[in-house]
Amino acid sequence: MTEGAVPRFWREIPQRYNLIANKCGNCSKVYFPPREVCPYCRRESMGKMEELNLKGTGKVLTYTIIYTPSEHFIGQVPYPIAIIKLDEGPKLTAQIVDCEVEDVKIGMKVKSTFRKISEDGYIGAIHYGYKFKPIEVKS
Ligand code: ZN
Repeated sequence: MTEGAVPRFWREIPQRYNLIANKCGNCSKVYFPPREVCPYCRRESMGKMEELNLKGTGKVLTYTIIYTPSEHFIGQVPYPIAIIKLDEGPKLTAQIVDCEVEDVKIGMKVKSTFRKISEDGYIGAIHYGYKFKPIEVKS
């Protein structure tokens, strides 16, 4: 592999593994994925965005059950995809793991975990990224 041909997912890894957000130094809004400019403050926030390491905990706002996986998906179907509101404020969409489909609930507390997301057939690369698992599963 020649220099400059580094696949996109490698460059994204630090962000994926650490759940780094940006916090506006002006209005304190938190953005994930990070943004350069706060859309709320606009120009006033220039140069005032701070890096923020997210704790990776939050709760399920809503969810959907996926019955048809995408081409490179690893794992079993059906599986739940949830919109999660992180404790710091930002929302993101992620798969819920370590949980039965019927046990996913709105308002359920979850925590980030790093898992295989997909396998890239032609170069054999495995993509990792964040998924979420329940903090507490009541049986
Ligand atoms: Zn702002």
